[in-house]
Amino acid sequence: MGGSRQIPIANRVGEVTPSLTLEISAKAKAMKADGLDVCSFSAGEPDFDTPRHVVEAAKQALDDGQTRYGPAAGEPKLRNAIAQKLHTENNLPYSANQVIITNGGKYSLFTLMQAMINPGDEVIIPSPYWLSYPEMVKLAGGIPVIVPTAAAQQYKITASQLQHYITPNSKLFILNSPTNPTGAVYSREELTALAEVIVNNDLFVVADEIYEKILYDQAEHISIGSLNSEIFERTLVSNGLAKTFAMTGWRVGYLAGNEEIVKAMTTIQSHSTSNVCTFAQYGAIAALENPLSEKAIDEMLAAFTQRRQVMLDVLSSVPQLSCPTPYGAFYLFVDISETGKTSLEFANQLLEEKQVATVPGIAFGNDNCIRLSYATDMTTIKNGLERLAKFAQNS
Ligand code: GLU
Repeated sequence: MGGSRQIPIANRVGEVTPSLTLEISAKAKAMKADGLDVCSFSAGEPDFDTPRHVVEAAKQALDDGQTRYGPAAGEPKLRNAIAQKLHTENNLPYSANQVIITNGGKYSLFTLMQAMINPGDEVIIPSPYWLSYPEMVKLAGGIPVIVPTAAAQQYKITASQLQHYITPNSKLFILNSPTNPTGAVYSREELTALAEVIVNNDLFVVADEIYEKILYDQAEHISIGSLNSEIFERTLVSNGLAKTFAMTGWRVGYLAGNEEIVKAMTTIQSHSTSNVCTFAQYGAIAALENPLSEKAIDEMLAAFTQRRQVMLDVLSSVPQLSCPTPYGAFYLFVDISETGKTSLEFANQLLEEKQVATVPGIAFGNDNCIRLSYATDMTTIKNGLERLAKFAQNS
């Protein structure tokens, strides 16, 4: 037989790593399926069911024959509903033709990079970051420019830091508030200062607002694009229904912004995914328009609030662990450096020895921490934290 065969994998794949959040949560699910008593704090996936009225609307759409191709940019009715939502809730005056529906919030960001970034363009990303941002930039041929932030600044990039990292090749800044993985929420003052730097340096900003509704202790979500007309012109808003409405598997996200950029994204989408699943889009319309959604969101938020408090109370009693108080999303970014372990060692040993799944901070650009998602039930939280505390104390 012939010699060893070269499997043809494109060079670009070698530039990126697979998503560790998805990998670890799949591993935890598989361990559970094998009968192991696993407590998973891995993926940021609400454990609630999609609200009934949303499911019913999608079923109705199926019965009504909404099973065919639709426009690549999305169902006009959904684009309208989103433009309306952005106007009334976020003070962002977009028209429907400035909105594109995408396969989850993730794909809106991926397609944006494909539509905006040329080889050598720099995209500024504060660290800790959601692990897919740098990989999406690289897959578009761009250069992720990582700006480290510390717990003492609640892991928030300052305007002077942003200014410092801008070069003639800078094209885009990624802002995520509330933040995955730290739970940080930017204030109006902080956003105003960042907006000034963005405008003065002729940059664009993509505001990933997927956690906008998940807020605690009177924290307020402000869309950077709402601050003034100059920053509005330079803002692209990415969002989706997954986290707010417990619709992770539906894959309905969107982006709103400059019409030419949205058109360029639509061209790319027309050659890749075409339209998002048609009847899922009808479910999304119900999620956005039916007043029952408010109650469903309030119930989920009340549960997240309780869980967050339990998590903070337990963690504060473990001297080896610390984290800034999160004001949004459903993550804690816990410093484990006192244990002397790297984040990978800590997370791997914790999973092997105690069957507790977490995501090592190195995946988010910080090797001193692990991420705990509390989008899981209270029993898992209590059992898992007890094991985590014992593990950290004996490390
Ligand atoms: N965004 C969630 C997380 O960070 C879901 C998994 C993913 O897409 O990364 O856990």
